[in-house]
Amino acid sequence: MRITTLGCNASITGELRTTCYLVDDDILIDAGTGAGELSLAQSIAIDTVFLTHSHLDHCGLLPMLADAAGSFRDAPLTVYALPETIATLEEHMLNNKLWPDYTVQPMPERPYIRFRPILAGETVELGGRRITALPARHAVPCVGYRIDSGKASLVYSADTTLCEDFWLALNRIDNLKHLLIETTFRNDNAAGAARSGHTTANLLAQGLRLLERPVELFIVHMEAGYEEVTMREVLQAASEYHPQVLRRGHVFEL
Ligand SMILES: [Zn+2]
Ligand SMILES: [Zn+2]
Repeated sequence: MRITTLGCNASITGELRTTCYLVDDDILIDAGTGAGELSLAQSIAIDTVFLTHSHLDHCGLLPMLADAAGSFRDAPLTVYALPETIATLEEHMLNNKLWPDYTVQPMPERPYIRFRPILAGETVELGGRRITALPARHAVPCVGYRIDSGKASLVYSADTTLCEDFWLALNRIDNLKHLLIETTFRNDNAAGAARSGHTTANLLAQGLRLLERPVELFIVHMEAGYEEVTMREVLQAASEYHPQVLRRGHVFEL
């Protein structure tokens, strides 16, 4: 299994792209602006998208991805998300005002998108690849994902503040290899992290104290313009894990 980082940042500008990971050639985890890196052929090859939550930096390109590929595909794009996320996208995005309702268009019997609900703890198996939703604690309902090749697992935390259940779930993953975790805010903006449901280096250190497994740690979703100071704080708080900044283009082989 191959996981390609198409976007892993909290905002756009310059080289930055928001969250989108490509699993092999046919699965996306989130559809932020990283999804715009796909060619037309690659877009057509996407069969399944797993969304973490409804914020635009994680799902903003979903409607345009469906639009670009839909007429070339034989089947709808299957989109897994929390029921609350699906309800938000149906009400506010695919509502025939912001964008066509591709859950019934271009034809009700042949739509471009079909939603499938997923809850934290549930696993979807696709061709031997197991994708499991994990708990998260954010400003809106949100899940992280474990992607398990059978040999090893990569976990993406999604957007979350300290969530004990997330760390306890990690302890149950026998083949845990990579952890991609957000550290959006620097420590002196702990109030912003609490308000918006994000992590600081101090909160990351608290979470890591609950972790009972070794893991390769990658930091994602740092606030633009504060990457250096945030990463300095992460290196101090989690030095034993030798955390690295994840960058667009990074490929994980599992
Ligand atoms: Zn985000
Ligand atoms: Zn968010």
